[in-house]
Amino acid sequence: MRSEKLVVIGGDAAGMSAASVARRHRPDLEIIVFEQGPFTSYSACGIPYYVGGMVPDHLSLIARTPETFREKQHIRVRTGHRVTGIDPRNRRVTAINLESRRELTESYEQLLIATGSRAMDLEVPGRQAARIFPIKTLEGAVELRRTLDAGQIRRAVVVGAGYIGLEMAEAFLRRGLEVAVLEKASQVLVTLDAEMANQVAEALEGEGVRFFFEEPPVAFEMAAGAVQAVVTPNRTLPTDLVVFGMGVRPASELAAAAGIELGVQGAIRTDRRMTTGIAGIWAAGDCAESPHLLTGQPSYFPLGTVANRHGRVAGVNIAGGHAEFPGSLGTSVTKACGMEVGQTGLLESELQKMAIPYASEKISSHTRSGYYPGSDPITIKLLASLENGRLLGGQIVGGRGAGKRIDVIATALQAGLTAEQVSELDLSYAPPFSPVWDPVLIAARQLARLIG
Ligand SMILES: Cc1cc2nc3c(=O)[nH]c(=O)nc-3n(C[C@H](O)[C@H](O)[C@H](O)COP(=O)(O)OP(=O)(O)OC[C@H]3O[C@@H](n4cnc5c(N)ncnc54)[C@H](O)[C@@H]3O)c2cc1C
Repeated sequence: MRSEKLVVIGGDAAGMSAASVARRHRPDLEIIVFEQGPFTSYSACGIPYYVGGMVPDHLSLIARTPETFREKQHIRVRTGHRVTGIDPRNRRVTAINLESRRELTESYEQLLIATGSRAMDLEVPGRQAARIFPIKTLEGAVELRRTLDAGQIRRAVVVGAGYIGLEMAEAFLRRGLEVAVLEKASQVLVTLDAEMANQVAEALEGEGVRFFFEEPPVAFEMAAGAVQAVVTPNRTLPTDLVVFGMGVRPASELAAAAGIELGVQGAIRTDRRMTTGIAGIWAAGDCAESPHLLTGQPSYFPLGTVANRHGRVAGVNIAGGHAEFPGSLGTSVTKACGMEVGQTGLLESELQKMAIPYASEKISSHTRSGYYPGSDPITIKLLASLENGRLLGGQIVGGRGAGKRIDVIATALQAGLTAEQVSELDLSYAPPFSPVWDPVLIAARQLARLIG
């Protein structure tokens, strides 16, 4: 008897974690993965450090190659193959071999859509110029690094001041370039409230980065086919290279064409088991939505953490088990030059929009005991419900050791703790790690006082 077949579209975080988990639970399953690019299971999160030269070669970012999947897990990966259509009625997909242009069809019993996301792009005059790089894929990063390694690049413009844009700005500073950042919003990192985000911008400005807010590019000028300036409504910025870090949108077109329902921001609508509502079809990762852990509302969190967790849940369910994705708080951490930044839960601006009565407290402290070498400033902002004291959000900006403190706050949010309960947590202390009262405890205590 022929074994059951799982087809996966997309060979990165979500797709390959689902395939690996399904294999662990079901050794008999036939598993075929279609991946349009040349790589599988790589850390896009490592791209800024590879481009910046901290990671010597791109191969270090690859967790598992197609050969490893084949030899160790009997998962067949067809790289260089793009799936072009899904036929849910007959349970088959069509794909094209991007090298030979040969078309093929593959039947399935179970199908996982893990097509991820696409970097936002700009349709403005001059976009076709060379040396303009959306920051998304490892192939693109290899080309960008090759361009930098060839020399002659002195200036870079980063479009978008989200975390990827800022990580790229740091990478370019590390390579000795002059860096300008253009952002259409009025602040960096719109995942933070403005007064927290402004501290990050100031730190980068201190390192020489120039910011231009509310100035999206309207055109690129080129010479000999390559970009030589970015034009905004207010100025023309000469540059040798441009990167885009304007965020992503879900790659959900294949799913939509197959009649699968889309939800928030065009991401594939899924339930907690990652089913799509069409028999045998699942979705996971950046192409799919997630429930918000606090509001319960469908939300979009294009994060590696979420993609891996989605993939694990889909893999268990595809293999016949039962797993549910509880939701996400969008917890994230990043570093831009010396500044570590963490965020979880809701922002003050979001609470205002939702008309949720809240209390807010912001404190300044130090990452270590004040006398200990390397003690850096840290600012923590906490938000809690005025009705029941439950924590609703947290943001952290500070020096080394600041960022990962967000995990304590995320844990408290997920557990439904009140500000007062957080202020009583039994956290650790030694001078190299924190003051005797950890800044998280100080912030929670002051917030609890406001709630009464
Ligand atoms: C520079 C950068 C830094 C990041 N840093 C962090 C971080 O620090 N922390 C964090 O949590 N997240 C980070 N992320 C986000 C994280 O990388 C993504 O959330 C994660 O990669 C999503 O995984 P995925 O498998 O859902 O999608 P993707 O990684 O987008 O993979 C989808 C795959 O599907 C393939 N595909 C798409 N369509 C087809 C098709 N029709 N046929 C065949 N193949 C197809 C694509 O080629 C791709 O390989 C970062 C992302 C970038 C770009």
